[in-house]
Amino acid sequence: MGEAWRTYFETQLSEIIDELHRYVTIESPTHNKESVDEMGKLIASRFAQLGCTVQQIPQAEVGDIIRAEWGHGEEQILIIGHFDTVKPIGTIQKQPWRIDGDKIYGPGIFDMKAGIVFCYFALKAIIEKGLLPNKRIVFIWNTDEEIGSPFSVDTIKKEAIKSSVALVMEPAYLTNLKTSRKGGGEFRIRAFGHSVHAGNDHEKGINAIEELAEQILKVQRFTDYAAGTTVSVGLIEGGSAVNVVPDYAQVRIDVRAKTAIEANKLTEQMHSLIPVLNGSRIEVEGGFDKLPMERTDGTIHLFHLAEKIASEEGFPIGEASVGGMSDGNTTSSLGVPTLDGLGAVGDGAHADHEHILIPHIPNRIALIIRLLLEL
Ligand SMILES: [Zn+2]
Repeated sequence: MGEAWRTYFETQLSEIIDELHRYVTIESPTHNKESVDEMGKLIASRFAQLGCTVQQIPQAEVGDIIRAEWGHGEEQILIIGHFDTVKPIGTIQKQPWRIDGDKIYGPGIFDMKAGIVFCYFALKAIIEKGLLPNKRIVFIWNTDEEIGSPFSVDTIKKEAIKSSVALVMEPAYLTNLKTSRKGGGEFRIRAFGHSVHAGNDHEKGINAIEELAEQILKVQRFTDYAAGTTVSVGLIEGGSAVNVVPDYAQVRIDVRAKTAIEANKLTEQMHSLIPVLNGSRIEVEGGFDKLPMERTDGTIHLFHLAEKIASEEGFPIGEASVGGMSDGNTTSSLGVPTLDGLGAVGDGAHADHEHILIPHIPNRIALIIRLLLEL
């Protein structure tokens, strides 16, 4: 049916841009529950207007999660995105909504309010054209992705295990979809020694910073670029005065891995560390918060379908593997085929020049609707 859907959404571009404007005008940084809830109310009302069953899942510390369900049938397709942003209230005054040539600028537009608006127009078209795939579509729009989804992870898991696939509306990488993401987490090593005066009793002291330094060199060497595993010591503290042999020091360590096997291997290595200095003690805690989103057969199958759609509709698409994490890590690590990066094409997530590219809007919505119809 070459180009049909892309052309269809091209005719709706001004309506789509108006809707994006509404979303961007409501600022919604993760830690401002009141404003995130205001954004949530708009999303909830929009999906309810389409006939979805909408549920606001109450949260105490972050905005309420929006769950919208449409359709009937045994099979469930899960769509995930977030409407919290990293941009504090007032950013809109400094970086206002602005259309400049092919670009629309605005806080949170790329990461990832556009992805939610795209889904709204895809579903609207399905309904208006009377296309009723015999499936249920469940949308989870969460409010804490930018802090690692600690409050929504259980909701996401609960829906994921009922779903045949998960489609994640995070922004694209260039024009590419994301078929794998590293998993990551944090470890902390605490070293304990024995404090003495550095001048008078040096030989009786056990230097916790020295102990920690030995451990740091060991863990940095767990990095294995070929396997996609990285270890990065990021924050360090210890000691009380320059003339005191320190009895305490600690370090916080960022870890990333490409496969669950590598993540488990690294976790084991971290927990097997033993002290080097006589009489010192170390404590290791932490682990992977998110397991890797691996490039599984199920995900490759989804990607090939997307590739076919893109070539029929006549726009470019590719595949990317990225280091950053998303809720796609959660669905994928449960074995649910996951395709990520289906949202907007643009640039500047978390940056001042955040924007999306207008010519790609119809492409992306065409991709989303056809995936829903053809899965
Ligand atoms: Zn995001």
